[in-house]
Amino acid sequence: MIVMDLKTPEEILDMLEGYNKIVLFGDSGCAQLCDVGGILQLEDMTDFLEENGKQVLGYIFVEGGICDVNAVSRDINEHSEMIEEADAFLIQACGVATQITTELVPDKESFPATNSTFLGKMPERFQHEETCALCGNCILHLTGGICPIARCSKGILNGPCGGSMDGKCERDDETDCVWQLIYERLKKLGKLENLKTIWEIKDWSLSQGPRSLTHEEF
Ligand code: SF4
Ligand code: SF4
Repeated sequence: MIVMDLKTPEEILDMLEGYNKIVLFGDSGCAQLCDVGGILQLEDMTDFLEENGKQVLGYIFVEGGICDVNAVSRDINEHSEMIEEADAFLIQACGVATQITTELVPDKESFPATNSTFLGKMPERFQHEETCALCGNCILHLTGGICPIARCSKGILNGPCGGSMDGKCERDDETDCVWQLIYERLKKLGKLENLKTIWEIKDWSLSQGPRSLTHEEF
């Protein structure tokens, strides 16, 4: 999931200065899982903005992912009167969502209520850990299913760096050294020989944007 956090109340009010009639957007995907754009947060934001003199015309809660352009377009069409009346939209979802509403309704401004931060897992509610850096060429089959790129503080492909102590990264005592984890995992799988392969420099052009992808049938 895309992990994101809400901007501060002050930042949100600053962005919306000069705009009065606001429509909020959220979704039942990443935004809800990150507790930034679920129904609860849309209602909290409504109360907050109204306490601060704004008129919230309503919200659009996209079932599924707000990155689904067709779904957002359909919901916007279903709420065309509200969209027409709005001065601006506040998007309680990722940066992709803000750009989609910008494209779909170009004559109104869409403002991001969140900071999209990383791609991660959610071990517990309100807790997120970075697990993938979208490198464009997944090597998890060689590392026992553990990503060195997103989870090593230095992104080292041929680790470890030599700074780990008692299984922890030299960065701090809380962070596991991912290369220690990879070593333990490969040992368990009987695949320690994977570590003898020296990988060539990674082709980072695969992770440079703007990227696009069209799926083909498998
Ligand atoms: S190897 Fe690349 S694609 Fe695979 S999990 Fe790590 S960053 Fe993501
Ligand atoms: S101690 Fe381990 S996780 Fe930390 S930077 Fe070095 S190799 Fe990467």
